[in-house]
Formats: sequence, C-alpha cells, structure tokens
Amino acid sequence: MSVDPQLLEILACPCDQHAPLQPAARPDGGPGLACTGCARVFPVVDGIPVLLLDEAVTG
Ligand SMILES: [Zn+2]
Repeated sequence: MSVDPQLLEILACPCDQHAPLQPAARPDGGPGLACTGCARVFPVVDGIPVLLLDEAVTG
C-alpha cells in the first residue's frame, strides 16, 4: 500500500534536517519512506507512515 501523494507532500523527516521524504523499499522488502537528508528509511504500516527515529533503519 502506497502513501497518499498529498500526505507525502506535507510530511518531513523528524531528523534535524526535516528533509522531505520519498517512497522507498525497506531492507526487509516492506514499504517505506526514505529521508532525502539523512537516508533513514521509515516503515509504512497499513498506509500510515511511522515517522519515529527509533523505528527507522539507515540505508
Ligand atoms: Zn532525515
């Protein structure tokens, strides 16, 4: 399930850079959002982005 593009536009990474996010696959193959600043990849659960630094993986 992908993230609503309009939602994606208003989301930003919780890292210090608050950089935009873009759709990306997680290392485990699940859907994710990659930060364009810090390269963290956040999980997307049932279409809802989980923008928690503790939940992110670094790619
Ligand atoms: Zn970031």
